[in-house]
Amino acid sequence: MNRDVIVCGAGAAGMCAAIYAARNGAHVTIIEKNSCLGKKLSMTGNGRCNLTNLDMREEYYNPSARGRMKEWLSTYGVEDVISFFKSMGVVVKSEEGYIYPVSGQAMSVVNALENEIKRLEITVNFGEQVKGVKCFDAGRVKLTTNKTEYEADAVILAMGALSGAKSTMSTGDGYYICKNIGMTVKDTHPALVGFKVAEGEIMPSAGVRAAAEVSFILGSELLAKEKGEVQLNHDGISGIPVMQASREIIQFVEEKKPVYAVLDFFPDYDETDFNALKADMLKLRDERSLEDFLQGFANSGITDMVLGRMKLGRKMKMKNISISMAECILDSYRNVKIALDTSYGYQASQVTTGGISLGDIGSDFSCKGAPGVYCVGELLDVDGRCGGYNLQFAWTSGSIAGCAASL
Ligand SMILES: Cc1cc2nc3c(=O)[nH]c(=O)nc-3n(C[C@H](O)[C@H](O)[C@H](O)COP(=O)(O)OP(=O)(O)OC[C@H]3O[C@@H](n4cnc5c(N)ncnc54)[C@H](O)[C@@H]3O)c2cc1C
Repeated sequence: MNRDVIVCGAGAAGMCAAIYAARNGAHVTIIEKNSCLGKKLSMTGNGRCNLTNLDMREEYYNPSARGRMKEWLSTYGVEDVISFFKSMGVVVKSEEGYIYPVSGQAMSVVNALENEIKRLEITVNFGEQVKGVKCFDAGRVKLTTNKTEYEADAVILAMGALSGAKSTMSTGDGYYICKNIGMTVKDTHPALVGFKVAEGEIMPSAGVRAAAEVSFILGSELLAKEKGEVQLNHDGISGIPVMQASREIIQFVEEKKPVYAVLDFFPDYDETDFNALKADMLKLRDERSLEDFLQGFANSGITDMVLGRMKLGRKMKMKNISISMAECILDSYRNVKIALDTSYGYQASQVTTGGISLGDIGSDFSCKGAPGVYCVGELLDVDGRCGGYNLQFAWTSGSIAGCAASL
């Protein structure tokens, strides 16, 4: 007999779970509190949707998830994701291993999933909020929403976490629902997020993007180091390297520990190269102003920041600046130390660290102690780096749970 499966949440993980369960013959209903499918998915990858990544490794996930990720990725990995989308007519391309739909539009991914959901005659109830689940000994699960009650053979909780704009409806409902059935919820923090800098830090007045190596330090401890294009704003620091490091530092920042970002704006120069560059620059100590001396050396916004921090006037004549002082100015571009205050918060973050403990989750994403209930996606204590790793987990967990729930 076909099993009744209810999927709570129509994000990436929920839609994938629903499709796999229905393809396996289950009678599937999705309950979604938003008024459309895949709201967050439509915003991913700057509207282009970075579906997955050819360089897929378990070490790109949080340490507590790595062992499990190895097992799950071997069951449903990158090639499975590419085949899944191919089966729905979504052609993908690789940009240095980062996989995107050829259309360059995240909406084409959402539309393909929506069409498959219609083709499989999956019922979708929009504007309905799941409030709780209860398991019966008879192997049935009761589900309560703000509108009614349901009974099913299996319920898949795919309600996401706390990250994303308000319109994504990421309010962490899954956490209290899971707590109520005895599951452990690990403390959560925003991740893949930028940081506001401490009051009084001198920053560029307008946004600046620049290549840099960023080291995050707490006292003498190096918490994380990343290289790439940083974004400096009047009040904070973000960009891919900052977001990648955020998981390692967020807890310390939130505990108000003194965490600093130390920026090197010449990340590709070793000491010898940089000394040679300085020697060439120092030949220009003449009538020109400090501002003119530095105009071709670095982005003007960064120069404003460096000179502001050193309390140096831009109009000083180079001939009045000693060689050692000029060297010190040039060296400063390799060691800009910025105190962090707080993160930009869940609404600016791409993923949530923490969540439902994997100790409560079976290899098929079933919830231990709650027969018939499955948990997938960002709701779980799994978070990956920027680059398609979080959506990969949504597809992996959704497909495995969808298949298991249908059997
Ligand atoms: C701006 C942005 C860009 C990103 N870009 C990328 C990227 O390019 N590549 C990548 O790998 N990852 C990216 N991510 C991360 C990725 O989007 C998430 O990891 C992924 O969408 C999580 O999927 P999910 O299905 O678990 O949760 P969600 O997508 O959050 O879906 C959860 C769904 O459940 C619904 N819901 C919540 N509570 C209830 C309830 N009580 N009852 C009913 N429904 C409910 C919500 O409305 C929502 O539709 C990005 C995230 C953001 C915010």
